[in-house]
Amino acid sequence: MLRNDELDRWDRECFFHPSTHLAQHARGDSPNRILRTASGSHIEDRDGKRLLDAFAGLYCVNVGYGRQEIAEAIAEQARELAYYHAYVGHGTEVSIKLARMVIDRAPAGMSKVYFGLGGSDANETNIKLVWYYNNVLGRPEKKKIISRWRGYHGSGLVTGSLTGLGLFHQKFDLPFERIIHTDAPYWYRRPDPAMDEAAYVAHLAGELEALIEREGADTIAAFIGEPVLGTGGLVPPPAGYWEAIQAVLERHDILLIADEVVTGFGRLGTMFGSDHYGIRPDLITIAKGLTSAYAPLSGSIVGEKMWKVLEQGTDEFGVIGHGWTYSAHPIGAAAGVANLELIDKLDLISNVREIGPYLTRGLSEALAEHPHVGEVRGVGLLSAVELVEDRETRAGFDPSRKIGPAVAGRMASLGVVARAMPQGDIIGYAPPFCLTREEADTVISVTAEAIRAELG
Ligand code: PLP
Repeated sequence: MLRNDELDRWDRECFFHPSTHLAQHARGDSPNRILRTASGSHIEDRDGKRLLDAFAGLYCVNVGYGRQEIAEAIAEQARELAYYHAYVGHGTEVSIKLARMVIDRAPAGMSKVYFGLGGSDANETNIKLVWYYNNVLGRPEKKKIISRWRGYHGSGLVTGSLTGLGLFHQKFDLPFERIIHTDAPYWYRRPDPAMDEAAYVAHLAGELEALIEREGADTIAAFIGEPVLGTGGLVPPPAGYWEAIQAVLERHDILLIADEVVTGFGRLGTMFGSDHYGIRPDLITIAKGLTSAYAPLSGSIVGEKMWKVLEQGTDEFGVIGHGWTYSAHPIGAAAGVANLELIDKLDLISNVREIGPYLTRGLSEALAEHPHVGEVRGVGLLSAVELVEDRETRAGFDPSRKIGPAVAGRMASLGVVARAMPQGDIIGYAPPFCLTREEADTVISVTAEAIRAELG
C-alpha cells in the first residue's frame, strides 16, 4: 500500500482532477481528501477520519455505501461475462433485464431505453435523437434547444452548453449557438417578492412563450429541465410550474426532456421526479441513482411518440449511426439490476418520504432565525440552506469571500460532508436514502454549529 506522503505527492504530480483549481492543487495550496472505504452513510479517509456523507458522493450513492449485494452482482458478472457490446442487436441477459426494469418503473408512455455511461453522454444522446427526429420529420430548421439558466446537464460540448452556469462556459467557447436559455424558477429570488406562486409561474411561462415567439417556434426542437433545479441551487419549483411550462411547449410542438439524473429512482420520494410533478416527458435522462454509482451507467428513456419516428428513420435511412463501445456494459447493468432490487427490497423510497421532510424541517427549525440564513428549502431528500449577507434585501455575500465553501469546510472538520453549491452561498444536502433520524440530527446540529462559527 502507498504511504500517505507518496499518495499526496503522486496526486499532485499526476492526477488531473475535475472541477478543481488546478494550480492550487498542483502547488499543494488546497487540501485534498483521499478516501479509503465507506459504509452506510459514512465515508472514511486515508487517515481513518470518518465523515457522515450528507451529499451521497455527488448525489449518487442512493442506497448507501458498502452494499455487498451490489458488489457480489458486479463480481459475478465480471467472472461470467465482463463485456460484450450491444451493437447490431447484441445484448446480455443482464442488460435486457435492466431495460425491462427501467421501462416498468418509468412514467407512462415510455418505450425504450438506450444505455450510456454517465449523465453527460446521456444528454448528448438525447440532443442527437431530437435532431434526428426532426430531420426524419422533414423539419431541418427545428433544432434549437431551450435550457434554463442555472440548469445543470453535464459538461460535454452540447451538454456544457445546456448547463446554465457560467463556470461551465467560461473559456470553453460555450454555449453553442443552437442552445438558448430561459429563467429557471427560483422562488426565493423571484423578481418581485410581492408575487405569489401563481403570478410567478405565469411570469416564467410568459417569458418562455416570448422567447419562443422571438426565435420562431419552427426553429425550436426541445426544452430540457431538471424536475427540481439541482446543481444550480437545489430549488423546488413553485406549484403549477410544470403544468404551465408543458402547456406552452405543447402549443408550439416542442419536445420535453426531463433530466432526471438526480431525481430518478426515488430521490423525491417517488420513482421519478416526473411522477412527483405530473411531467409528461418525451425523453428522460437517467444516471446516478440507476446504479447508485456502484458502476458507471446512464440511460436515455425514449417515449412512444419519438420512438415511432426513430423506427421510421431507420426504415428510410438505415442503421442509426449512434453508439458507444460501452453502451449497456454488463457490469454497469449488473450493478443497476442489483441496485433497483435493493431499493425495492429495503423500501428505501418510503424512507426518503419520511426522512427527507424530517431533515428539511429540522434545518429550518435550527436555522430559520439566523440573520444570515435567507431560506431553507427542500423536497424529498434534497435540501438546501441559502446564506445571505442581508436577509431584508436578500443580497448575497461578495462571492470572493467564499462563504459557502467556508461553511462546508467547517462542517467537514466537524464530521459532516455537505456540498457548497457552485453558484451562490448555498449549502446542499442529498444524503443516501438509508439516512437515519439520528444521522439527520447530526447533519442539522453540525450545520448550525458551522454557520455560527463562520458567521456568528
Ligand atoms: N444532469 C444532471 C441533472 C446532473 O446533475 C448531472 C451531474 O451532476 C448530469 C446531468 C451529468 O452527469 P455526469 O456527471 O454523470 O456526466
